[in-house]
Amino acid sequence: MENTSHDFITELRSIRKHFQGRPTPVYYAKTLSEKYGGRIYLKREDLNHTGAHKLNHCMGEALLAKYLGKKKLIAETGAGQHGVALATAAAYFGLECEIHMGEVDIVKEHPNVVRMKILGAKVIPVTFGLKTLKEAVDSAFGAYLEDPINSIYCIGSVVGPHPFPMMVRDFQRVVGIEAKEQYFEMTGENPDNVVACVGGGSNAMGIFSSFIQDEDCELYGVEPSGKSLNLGDHAATMTKGSPGMIHGFKCYLLQDEKGEPAPVYSIASGLDYPGVGPEHSMLKDLGRVNYVTANDKETLDSFFELSRLEGIIPALESAHAVAFACKLAQEKPRQSILVNLSGRGDKDVDFVVENYGKDYGIKF
Ligand SMILES: *Cc1c(COP(=O)(O)O)cnc(C)c1O
Repeated sequence: MENTSHDFITELRSIRKHFQGRPTPVYYAKTLSEKYGGRIYLKREDLNHTGAHKLNHCMGEALLAKYLGKKKLIAETGAGQHGVALATAAAYFGLECEIHMGEVDIVKEHPNVVRMKILGAKVIPVTFGLKTLKEAVDSAFGAYLEDPINSIYCIGSVVGPHPFPMMVRDFQRVVGIEAKEQYFEMTGENPDNVVACVGGGSNAMGIFSSFIQDEDCELYGVEPSGKSLNLGDHAATMTKGSPGMIHGFKCYLLQDEKGEPAPVYSIASGLDYPGVGPEHSMLKDLGRVNYVTANDKETLDSFFELSRLEGIIPALESAHAVAFACKLAQEKPRQSILVNLSGRGDKDVDFVVENYGKDYGIKF
């Protein structure tokens, strides 16, 4: 057993360095900091291979599949980032890959669908319910249960029944370990605040896990308040939800009167999930993490601002974290803020410009 663990970790480390391009840098966002006060730093997960933090857990899950002798990786995807990351991992290891995706997201995230197909994955359209992430999870679970011997279910966040939340958190932990070391090397200190967006919560758990023990470090999880805080207009699970069950685990949940998961909305497909990781739910109850929100407008403003002030086009998911960090910088002008920039915005540029370009001076 001991050698197996050692070999596993050695192989994972080598993959991270030579294939994924880790460590990703920590960057001081000077212009943004000058505008808002405070000192804003970005952990650049947008520079991770495939453009987001998700490859961190996908390479781990696929390596696990190899060790277990599995032939096929099965998963759901929302924005398509998890699907692309897992299809990438499958190609790397020479495994089959089947990705379940809501029809609504297939249209919205077309470039990622193309990427998955180029990488050799099979994309299964999910046509029931709201045809987004929640239904895609149901569909993927179903497919996995049809052949649990030869296939493995690779969940996309720190959600689902044990051991999925723990596994995904531990594979994402590399983000926090690197960021803490890099930030200390740059400043000689620990950051005063750490900010991350929360969909299911994997990028947030990854970076938070290194700072939870540091009591003077404030942690902020940013959820999408979307168009408004009326049910159906947002995915602010912690802010507006109550304890409930989804996909085989208990967490804060946006639910209707019958306890069924409620419809959710976010401008960022990767954040529109009615549940949230069980560990986040615990951290909320403990009062260790502050769960806050950013709405569509604030997110779009930050999307363009980070692009124009720093030359970094963020994913719409990550732009939620940046939007909140700018507010926090104004409230705490003497403090430092480390933001997990979970992904890059290439996948979002067409959607943003088509729907909101005019508001930001873009005309064709
Ligand atoms: C999927 C995704 C998220 C949300 O997922 P978490 O599990 O909450 O991290 C955030 N940012 C990006 C770029 C994503 O692709």
